[in-house]
Amino acid sequence: MAKKPQTSPILLRWSDYVPATDVQDPLGLGLRGSARLASQLLYCITSITPRARYFSFIPWCVFDHQQRERGRPHALGLRDGIIIREQAFTLACIAHHEGEPCSGGGLVGSRDAKTWFANGGKEAHFKTMKKFSKNPALGAYLNSVVNLGLFETDTQRPDSDEEVAHKDFTFNDIKLSALGLDLAKRFDQKAGSLSTAKQIASKERCCSIDDLAKFGKHGGLCELSHKGCVDRELLRDIFFALVDFKVRDPEKNSHPFRRQSLLLILELCRQFSIEKLRLNEAGFAGAVYFGEVANDESRLAVVIPPQLHDIATRWRMFYFHHFMSVAFEGLFSWLVSQLGNRGLAGATVDSLVAQLDEPGVRKNLSEILAVDLKGSFGDLTPSALCAKAGIKEGALDEVVSKSVDPGVTTLTPFAEDTLENLIRSKEHLYSSTGLALPMILMAVTLARYKQWETTNYGEWLAGVADPKFGHNPLLDLVPPLVTTGLTRRFDGDWWNCSWKELTSFVLWRYVIQQHESMSYERTDERCLLQVERPKVVSPGRFDKIGMVNGRLGSAIQILTDLGLIEEDENKVSHLTEEGETFLMREMAKVVTNEVS
Ligand SMILES: [Zn+2]
Repeated sequence: MAKKPQTSPILLRWSDYVPATDVQDPLGLGLRGSARLASQLLYCITSITPRARYFSFIPWCVFDHQQRERGRPHALGLRDGIIIREQAFTLACIAHHEGEPCSGGGLVGSRDAKTWFANGGKEAHFKTMKKFSKNPALGAYLNSVVNLGLFETDTQRPDSDEEVAHKDFTFNDIKLSALGLDLAKRFDQKAGSLSTAKQIASKERCCSIDDLAKFGKHGGLCELSHKGCVDRELLRDIFFALVDFKVRDPEKNSHPFRRQSLLLILELCRQFSIEKLRLNEAGFAGAVYFGEVANDESRLAVVIPPQLHDIATRWRMFYFHHFMSVAFEGLFSWLVSQLGNRGLAGATVDSLVAQLDEPGVRKNLSEILAVDLKGSFGDLTPSALCAKAGIKEGALDEVVSKSVDPGVTTLTPFAEDTLENLIRSKEHLYSSTGLALPMILMAVTLARYKQWETTNYGEWLAGVADPKFGHNPLLDLVPPLVTTGLTRRFDGDWWNCSWKELTSFVLWRYVIQQHESMSYERTDERCLLQVERPKVVSPGRFDKIGMVNGRLGSAIQILTDLGLIEEDENKVSHLTEEGETFLMREMAKVVTNEVS
């Protein structure tokens, strides 16, 4: 039967380029994978809640509204009452720092507050003043505040990295829990006696800049880390799960996991600082995934204390997903970029995959991987290629998998982090080598993962896609599902099939079909591919790799706010004296919580 000619109406929707901002998570690997894992590992510390002080400021707003405003003729509703106090708080921090936001970052609206301050006004009339931010920080922090048990409520809020509308949240019957009240009163000890507290609750709602500066000095975001802040100790106990959370833990271990993650970060900070290594996403990933951290000058073998083995292993699972996802997103951006160049003619997957046979690919990969490749790369197998990195040959089993660990260490040519950096650099985005690199990243990651497949940790990772928890194993890709899929497709031995066969399947199943399913699933996500088998067409222009560990930065900032970590002038983090004592004390408590 003759093939139907491609009809233009379907393609018309691409007459305008789809802006890249319309596509956030093209394969669903972030929201449906990393975000779910991180939400368990750092529950209540989302990527948009990095400042610890805000967690005592909110209960104080509720308390202050109750004490000094509610029931008066001019009283605002609680939500508006919080928002006007937040506005004053933002300006107070800027006023205290003479025009700059708190170190470590201000709240949303700080930029406008800075501009307002720079105009030199002596008084702020909050009743009439334009809001510094359309979406107050409250929107980002509210769920975490509730989930940490600071309000009386039995309902759990979604633990999300995205700001959500709180239309379902009734502010008017909010009550502080005993814990929330304790925090509020601690904040109030100093703040309550300041003029700003009285004025912001009054009918006029007018504060002098000098008074606001005093408020910032005592209650500001970065000021929490100063000694003698009475709310700080309680905040620390809350984040480290040293208070009784009672029913507010649906998973039974969310709060303990957060505690362990924070202890792990402190412990890594301690070890990194000795070698002057920076505490950042790359270092953290190196430590939990490779067991070592490296930079140009030094290489540090990280020792994970037994109390932290469990949590460090869960973070390792997080990074298996992360590296696999970088590979798939790398394939997606390569595909879209290639197709973009071909316009409406598009290409077949077979013709794209055939590019792996180009001599240039062999030449480039020989250089990148520091090996001498012979023949065509497309005909080679993952097993034969990885043997050159010291990985055992043969069927992919536990023994082969375990040989990846000593064979491929951090920042060596075959290593996941090296390949990730290379893919993110976009250096090979428009060349055929750009197809090979994410495939190698996927293969190394899944080969290393194999040894975990039947462990409790592998099961925990698979839980992200488990229908038992309301997830969808057909749409939610995690390493356990992908290894199962590959094993089925290649009769148990994908490791020994050719790169061409493997790439062809992976492109169809985990990139093209996955993106199509995602754009059906999410109405706010645009579809960048038009598939008319065997052809694929795309308008091109999408080259973003979205995978991050967004909560880590917030966790490090919160530990800084709590006075446990400080950064020196070379951006190397150290434990403070208090941090050292605290870590030692908490590590003495033995906890084991491996899932059974
Ligand atoms: Zn400050």
